[in-house]
Amino acid sequence: MAILAKGLVETSIQRTVSSLGDRSRYIGMSDIGRALECPRAAVGNKLFGNSTELQANPDGLSSMLSKQLRLQRGHWFEAGVSQVFQNQGLPVIEQLEIQITHNQVPIKAHLDFTFVSAVGQPTVRILELKSCENIPSTLYSSYETQVYGQVGLLRALWNQPAFGVHGEPGRAECSGRTFPEICLEKLGIEMPTDASLVDIEAWVLCLSMSEAKAFGPYLPDKSMLSLCLQTAVDLWTLTDDVRSNGGDIFDLPTAKGFHALCPWCEFNADCPKFEGVDQPQWRPDLEKLATLKGELDRLDVEISEIEDGLKTAYRLSDASGNWINADNQRFRVSSQSGRHTLNREQLRWELAAGMGEEKAEALLARCESEGKPFERLMVSKINMKKVG
Ligand code: SF4
Repeated sequence: MAILAKGLVETSIQRTVSSLGDRSRYIGMSDIGRALECPRAAVGNKLFGNSTELQANPDGLSSMLSKQLRLQRGHWFEAGVSQVFQNQGLPVIEQLEIQITHNQVPIKAHLDFTFVSAVGQPTVRILELKSCENIPSTLYSSYETQVYGQVGLLRALWNQPAFGVHGEPGRAECSGRTFPEICLEKLGIEMPTDASLVDIEAWVLCLSMSEAKAFGPYLPDKSMLSLCLQTAVDLWTLTDDVRSNGGDIFDLPTAKGFHALCPWCEFNADCPKFEGVDQPQWRPDLEKLATLKGELDRLDVEISEIEDGLKTAYRLSDASGNWINADNQRFRVSSQSGRHTLNREQLRWELAAGMGEEKAEALLARCESEGKPFERLMVSKINMKKVG
């Protein structure tokens, strides 16, 4: 386990250096996405990077492994998906790099896959891969910001020498090319020098261990690009200020409200958003709660597997609607009608069309009731590394 954890950390460092270079010397699209959500975490990441040491706490090894497996799963997915596209013989550039200096701030975008076609209408499709534990129903705003930045820069810098391919071992590197030059050099495809003649879209492909979902299209948008560039400048300035003040990030603005990344954040130990009092006597209860919840999840999976197996057995049997007896128990599979749901927006719209918006709102308000307030226990992990 220790060898695996150490190896994963080292591989991660090598891969980051070879594919992304020194990330402290520029602002990347993922930094911008993070800064829009939480400036404190974005500056912390720029200054201190991700922690790579095995921590001294008792679950240091397993938490390090779990974090590395989560982080590296994305690279493994990428290698597998790349293989698929290569086997299909698709005209794709991998790890396209776009560089710009905006208001003295170096900014870079790294695009996972860029598909190019000159057949009929010249077309470019950017595909950003994201590995997820569970596929989200809507895309996280940090991912959207990232692809808006990518597609906006590609369109804006199209015929400028801002493009390159930043190599992993085995991939020929190049830089200082225009996008049409890169297409010709890498794919033998001649693209127009005028980006307005090209149909450009970006997509995000989310992959979990068993599902996939594509989000998009994201089109070049001047206001989104300006927001990205301004956020990059703000982050660079804030990082410089903190660096010259001795690296204290404590007072920087934090994410507002619930934020899904807080439990994974390297800088959550002393984050002012979680200001509180120390009462270590509750640790055993919290640990037991976590263990029980883990068992519950495992039991849920086990129950589903057994239920699915019994349903399949019933379908394959000749019971034809009758019960199957098994010693002192019996089972049967029957079809049930689906759950009824009310489409509130549709109802509002229909009522407003018939009686006017104001009366419809009043009617809906009269028919609505609010449940009693209830208490909700929130448990959040503290990552032991402290900074500042
Ligand atoms: S814990 Fe949450 S709010 Fe605090 S720095 Fe990290 S991401 Fe931001």
